[in-house]
Amino acid sequence: MFQWVDLSVSHFPGVISLAVGLLMWMTSLHPVRKKKFELFFYTHQLYVIFIVFLALHVGHFLFCVSAGGIFLFILDRFLRFCQSRKTVDIISIKCLSCGTVELVLSKPANLQYNALSFIFLQVRELSWLQWHPFSVSSSPLDGKYHLSVLIKVIGEWTKKLRGNILNSSEADLYLWPQTKITASVEGPYGHELPYHLMYENLILVAGGIGISPFLAILSDILHRTREGKPCLP
Ligand SMILES: Cc1cc2nc3c(=O)[nH]c(=O)nc-3n(C[C@H](O)[C@H](O)[C@H](O)COP(=O)(O)OP(=O)(O)OC[C@H]3O[C@@H](n4cnc5c(N)ncnc54)[C@H](O)[C@@H]3O)c2cc1C
Repeated sequence: MFQWVDLSVSHFPGVISLAVGLLMWMTSLHPVRKKKFELFFYTHQLYVIFIVFLALHVGHFLFCVSAGGIFLFILDRFLRFCQSRKTVDIISIKCLSCGTVELVLSKPANLQYNALSFIFLQVRELSWLQWHPFSVSSSPLDGKYHLSVLIKVIGEWTKKLRGNILNSSEADLYLWPQTKITASVEGPYGHELPYHLMYENLILVAGGIGISPFLAILSDILHRTREGKPCLP
């Protein structure tokens, strides 16, 4: 188990890689991921150690087999990193009476989204490492320079966000840009094609915060109908 040779297969790096891989697998099992998302998420960052020791274990020849995929992954991480470094302005934050937070953000010029998109949001005052996914609740036709999301307060990060808003404002209903929140956006992700425009009849079924993307869809359809743009529904 402790053998480490320069050429051919080394056992010890393989043991390290396997141990790390097992840890990643165990913490990504459904019950752990559901109840302790952060444990799953942070343990998964060990993938760097997993890959490095895998390379040392199998040697350069075998590692080259997977190198193409790993290269594409690193390129993707790098591009995402470049895109998400800039911060966006908070145009408004509203704490709705049901407890949901509505966040209106300035839209980076290079972010082209559609009504079915979701973005990853980082709030530096809450955590530098966490990026949380939220569906857009606005249509791109609502305005060129902003986008909005609806955030249900459910766990630690969203509770902290709401707490941060309420602490920095006397009135807990509306909050304007003086609040100290530094946000960054990454994305958009999700469907590339606005396929909701391709059907004559749409039935939207949602519960709770699941209505968020439907607000974007409905707004999109209303704008298109009013502006005479192509729209089947
Ligand atoms: C594609 C997508 C779109 C979403 N859109 C919305 C939306 O429009 N509005 C909304 O309120 N919520 C949305 N969510 C859910 C939202 O991302 C989580 O509720 C939020 O991240 C919870 O964070 P927390 O730390 O407060 O809660 P936690 O208690 O840490 O987590 C609560 C639940 O959210 C899940 N979760 C936590 N962090 C993440 C993460 N970074 N990525 C994925 N799941 C996570 C956990 O598995 C857990 O089940 C969306 C999730 C996805 C995957």
